[in-house]
Amino acid sequence: MKYNVAIIGSGPSGFYAAQALFKSEINVFVDMFEKLPNPYGLLRGGVAPDHQQMKSVSKSYESIAQNDQFRFFGNVNVGQDVKIDELKSYYHAIICCIGAESDRKMNIPGEDANGSHTATEFVAWYNGQPEYQNHKFNLNGKVAVVIGQGNVAVDVTRMLTKSIDELSQTDMTKCAIDALTNSSIEHVYMVGRRGPVQAAFTKLELKELGNLSGVNLNIHHDLTLSKSDQSEIEQVSKSRKNIELLTELKSKSLDKSANKHIHLMFNTSPVEIQTTNDRVSSIRFEKNELFGDPCSQKAIGTGEYFTLNCDLVFRSIGYKGVPLIGVPFDEKRGVIPNQMGQVVDLNNTIVPQLFASGWIKRGPSGVIGTNRHDSFETVDTCLDYLRTIDSEINNEIIDLLNKRNVTYVTFDGWKKINDYEINQGANVGKPREKVTSVKEMLKLASM
Ligand code: NAP
Repeated sequence: MKYNVAIIGSGPSGFYAAQALFKSEINVFVDMFEKLPNPYGLLRGGVAPDHQQMKSVSKSYESIAQNDQFRFFGNVNVGQDVKIDELKSYYHAIICCIGAESDRKMNIPGEDANGSHTATEFVAWYNGQPEYQNHKFNLNGKVAVVIGQGNVAVDVTRMLTKSIDELSQTDMTKCAIDALTNSSIEHVYMVGRRGPVQAAFTKLELKELGNLSGVNLNIHHDLTLSKSDQSEIEQVSKSRKNIELLTELKSKSLDKSANKHIHLMFNTSPVEIQTTNDRVSSIRFEKNELFGDPCSQKAIGTGEYFTLNCDLVFRSIGYKGVPLIGVPFDEKRGVIPNQMGQVVDLNNTIVPQLFASGWIKRGPSGVIGTNRHDSFETVDTCLDYLRTIDSEINNEIIDLLNKRNVTYVTFDGWKKINDYEINQGANVGKPREKVTSVKEMLKLASM
């Protein structure tokens, strides 16, 4: 018996789902659909350019793609080029691994002002995502503010302050390197609504901020801990490690010759992004106090306000999933409702054939490796479902794509783009020079 499974999305959760399917005892054929011509999702478009070690996991995805029973269909937008309901007649099961493409909102005045961007936009731009290449960021001012203290906020802060010499050896796009070369940003404020114990960043990422050459790290907190904070660091090793490192970094004397400055501010919430001449010029903040039990302390405004002048704002308060037509969606949480990866509708009734994995299943948290466990769980549920099926299915999806004139990119087509990027990068001492136009990628793939 031959089973056909479609995976929508080619990021880490998609590839781990394929891996788990191939490890099973059943005879499964996997077709992976991706709306861009290239695979790898956030591994290519989200992971910071100076984290090449992390990106090397793509080698293992490449070997999954070599399986004879795997096909890649890049440049196919499921929902537009082909509907989920149509795919249901070509596949026994469909696993949605579409990640979280949008952002949480702060819901404060001025949030969408000129010069206020989501971190997602900036990250996608410097990582060469085609649809973000026309975005412009005003790097002519002196002060940037990053709202939020997760690892994405750390990435953005680091990209704004790291030396161009170092960035030039990464796979950051030429266009972004050129823009950052001309940047006059000197101060980057990374602002958290809660305290240092609750900061969402992890120790390794904080350490990198403390070790940037020519950059001072200013910690605007005396690191005195409340009773609840004390209890929290005894229970949560991430918080304890962060506090130990913050204490060490705070004791370091500042470098007087540094020309860039990172400021970590805590217990502070933006209440309004203000503009002058239709451009961001300042943020009004309110100071917070924390209330509640250890590990669930909440920030409450104290009524004390202050204003910080700035030229550029990045909102980095977390990603949010977007719906896929034909699949149930929990608007509030921004996820596909599911039970162990099996999609359910909003009344908790199982939706046959549909499964979900990764950020669209559990929300936008965790590192690349977290998706492996997540996808293996989904595939276990999916295999239980497949074992109940005893008839084969017509899998002539190529006929449908051809009939609709969809120019799809195979994995061999992607390899041509990949080789080209690596060769172009080698000429200038970079791991790769990314192709940032879909048109050019399609041309390379068809050569
Ligand atoms: P995140 O870790 O969830 O951090 C979100 C930050 O936004 C938190 O500081 C949160 O504060 C704050 N926040 C949320 N709502 C807010 C509001 N209304 N006003 C002010 N602040 C608000 O999200 P992320 O940074 O986008 O990262 C997503 C996932 O990817 C994380 O698991 C992260 O570790 C991972 N990632 C890993 C790496 C790496 O390994 N190097 C790099 C990038 C991303 P509260 O805590 O108070 O809610």
